[in-house]
Amino acid sequence: MAPAAAPPHQYLIALGSNVRHARHGAPAQVLRAAARALDDAGLAVRALSPIIASAPLGPSRRRYANACAVITTPLEPAQLLARLQGLEHRFGRVRRGAPWRARTLDLDIVLWSGGALADIHANLVIPHPACRQRPFVMGPAMRIAPDWRDPLTGLATKHLASRLTRRRPAPR
Ligand code: ATP
Ligand code: CA
Ligand code: CA
Repeated sequence: MAPAAAPPHQYLIALGSNVRHARHGAPAQVLRAAARALDDAGLAVRALSPIIASAPLGPSRRRYANACAVITTPLEPAQLLARLQGLEHRFGRVRRGAPWRARTLDLDIVLWSGGALADIHANLVIPHPACRQRPFVMGPAMRIAPDWRDPLTGLATKHLASRLTRRRPAPR
């Protein structure tokens, strides 16, 4: 009997864009095209959140489009990160200088079904270290994966999101 295929992992991905793409258009369109490209790359998109517009981050003055997707894939985290970076590159992102600069596409791994992970060789930390402080991540995340728990705090995305929308934000 053929061995059973390994069960795929589930990942929550944050998508961001703050630059127009020559072919796809405005940042929200870039994210829609990116979600299709994830699917085409064999990363099965199970859910895509609404796309939100959010304020600039850091020194950049461009507004962002942000969204989250739940994907399933047999790829391990480091392999998935390499695949996501390949997609960013295909969308014209040039990786140089400070983070938070203008970028056509940013794809971060927020959570995965394997719990907490720190892979120093791949320079990869899951949960994404800044995700709990970012309404533009937790807002979309709670729309598609409200009960998915952050393994470090034990809080579900809907709880992390509501903490961020209270009048007095939680300390960073
Ligand atoms: P931020 O990570 O604060 O959102 P950024 O997305 O602008 O900033 P990048 O320049 O895209 O930062 O990535 C910097 C590095 O972060 C990457 O080379 C990658 O190895 C590393 N990294 C660590 N953890 C993650 C993760 N969970 N998802 C994506 N990249 C990660
Ligand atoms: Ca990011
Ligand atoms: Ca990134």
